[in-house]
Amino acid sequence: MALVGPVVCLAGGVGGSRLAHGLAQVLPPGQLTVVVNTADDFRHYGLQVCPDLDTVMYNLAGLADPQRGWGLRDDSGNMLEALQRLGGDGWFQLGDKDLATQVLRTHWLARGMRLTEVTARLAAALGVKQALLPMCDEPVATMVQTREEGELDFQTWFVRRRWRPAVRSLCLAGLGRARMTAEVSDALAGAALVLLAPSNPWLSILPILAVPGLREALRQASAPVAAVTPVIRGAALKGPAARLMADFGLAPGAGTVARLYGDILDAFVYDERDAVPPLTGLRLLGVDTVMVNEDARARLARDILDWIATWRTPHVPEREKP
Ligand code: GDP
Ligand code: CA
Repeated sequence: MALVGPVVCLAGGVGGSRLAHGLAQVLPPGQLTVVVNTADDFRHYGLQVCPDLDTVMYNLAGLADPQRGWGLRDDSGNMLEALQRLGGDGWFQLGDKDLATQVLRTHWLARGMRLTEVTARLAAALGVKQALLPMCDEPVATMVQTREEGELDFQTWFVRRRWRPAVRSLCLAGLGRARMTAEVSDALAGAALVLLAPSNPWLSILPILAVPGLREALRQASAPVAAVTPVIRGAALKGPAARLMADFGLAPGAGTVARLYGDILDAFVYDERDAVPPLTGLRLLGVDTVMVNEDARARLARDILDWIATWRTPHVPEREKP
């Protein structure tokens, strides 16, 4: 496989971690930085829970539950069971081993460590060789304005209410105090390629791009920016990406995702099951983007990197599938 240089992947949880894990299988460890959404993070029973960071971390460590895609494999639910017996809420699932991550993260944050440092320590302890970075150190929280139930915090809408209430709009609380970290800035400045993973655009990728300074850094970076579609034939493989398009009155399709990212995008990877999206000014690649297992993750990563490597050849790259 042709090497393109350092890759930065912007990722959410399940979809993001699949591509991140594919890239980790085909790139030397020092060549991959994953920048993860933290706008899903919340306080639960006094613990600082970072669902997307943990999903990516467990996947890169080879410890993720293969069925659910999140949480640790071979985890048990004793704590949750005991908690419910005592009258506590069990709507947010936290396995026993997973709980250790939350306890230690909360402890280190309380001692004044930045989330970036905490994440690096936890990831290193689990054997992750790639750089894993939260999008910022300050708390930023997705807030959901619903049509029927007013404003809900993200986890209440997503997990507790199973994303049933229709969404009027989303906003990011705390954004004004957030700053791009030096680690994210350095990674973007040194990148040969920036990939926006097939994650939920509104709930995972746009919050990362909204961190003050980050979009500007992407524009200034010399690396091309490519996005991978999270929607195939107008549907999400999982979760509310297509539902949000309907709620917002947008056409449910891959092209809508590319348009949301706007002028930072140089290239877009759509799924071969779809027609070529009507997008102008972007390099387009149509491949199988469904990452059903570890091999499929690596294959998609390789397809994308091989394609990008061809951009360097003196020939004008051919448009895929006219
Ligand atoms: P979450 O934070 O766990 O909700 O996960 P993400 O935001 O990272 O990803 C959710 C999105 O990933 C959904 O829109 C899915 O359609 C998409 N997704 C999940 N797995 C795959 C896959 O294998 N291929 C593609 N193309 N998209 C995927
Ligand atoms: Ca998430």
